[in-house]
Amino acid sequence: ARVLNFSAGPAVMPEVVLRQAQEEMLDWRGTGACVAELSHRGAPFMALASEVEADVRNLLAVPESHAVLFLAGGATTLQALLPLNIAKQGQRADYLVTGHWAKVAMKQAAPAADVHVVASGEAGQFRSIPPRSEWQRSPDAAYFHVTANETIHGVELPDDIDAGTSAPLIADFSSNIASRPSDLSRYAMVYAGAQKNLGPSGITLAIIRKDLLERRGQPRADILTWASHAAQGSMLNTPPTWNWYLLGLCVRWMIEQGGTAEFARRNGEKSALVYAAIDDSEGFYRNDVVTSARSRMNIPFVLHDAALDAAFLAESQAAGLIGLKGHKAIGGMRASLYNAMPVDGVRVLVDFMHDFRKRHG
Ligand code: PLP
Repeated sequence: ARVLNFSAGPAVMPEVVLRQAQEEMLDWRGTGACVAELSHRGAPFMALASEVEADVRNLLAVPESHAVLFLAGGATTLQALLPLNIAKQGQRADYLVTGHWAKVAMKQAAPAADVHVVASGEAGQFRSIPPRSEWQRSPDAAYFHVTANETIHGVELPDDIDAGTSAPLIADFSSNIASRPSDLSRYAMVYAGAQKNLGPSGITLAIIRKDLLERRGQPRADILTWASHAAQGSMLNTPPTWNWYLLGLCVRWMIEQGGTAEFARRNGEKSALVYAAIDDSEGFYRNDVVTSARSRMNIPFVLHDAALDAAFLAESQAAGLIGLKGHKAIGGMRASLYNAMPVDGVRVLVDFMHDFRKRHG
């Protein structure tokens, strides 16, 4: 039997996608080969690549002004390449620090930019998003980077932010891409490792406004240059073809399910169920993030007595619920509710939480 996977990533994928991949494994589209065995420059894969790009554009309503890139290296590599591609050497780069991943983004950029903290939630242990009135933007920044959802701290920007006009807005969408409709025209660039809402690890989606690709940036190799990848249809070198294929199946599935509006509805319902189980537990479970900043994707929580953690994990695992251990940086538990996690799966989790509390409360 398949487990219910609440892992933060790599994460659950739709069962129908995995079954389709299994069916097509030995003979994909009548080629007599697995897609992973075929040249990325051959007609069958080239056709797939353009279909997937069209589906990504459709699902995420990507404006014509933006290029869509399929890259290797994960979100972290893109964070390091960001200043090299779009900032001058030593130029200011603004960061809104909302949690662990915003700090990682800043650390990756630090060797190639003068990174500046616009505001930070760290003093409050990242339980809220610094209010806009406290943001100190630099007038001369090459860009302004935000993390749309903090996978570890469970803090999510409530909506697309209006960044004003002073610097291009760049957002890390790794853990909430496609979880709700988004106005991508507000962003100069968004990027996401695929291993949460888009399918497998090993491929990273970057959606970049074309004028940004014309920036000179800093000296770097061609392979580190997004404009070169864009000019070659993300085939400057051998791309992760298998991952591209699986990402394509996941994106098609999301379109067929009703697109981002439908996932916004489901994700609202799922997260409300879990937050209610926590908030109505009379202190047995606790999530300290302020309500307005609570993530719909990743819900960290602690048990009132940490001595119960091991029992919670062992019993949930025995009940077929995996991936609930919190990140080591903050401990406790975490339930990740990505698009492929069905509402009924979350009901099973919530029933388990109630039952566990009854037995151990
Ligand atoms: N950004 C966010 C919000 C993440 O959750 C993660 C990974 O979990 C990363 C960046 C790093 O992504 P990658 O492992 O693809 O480099």
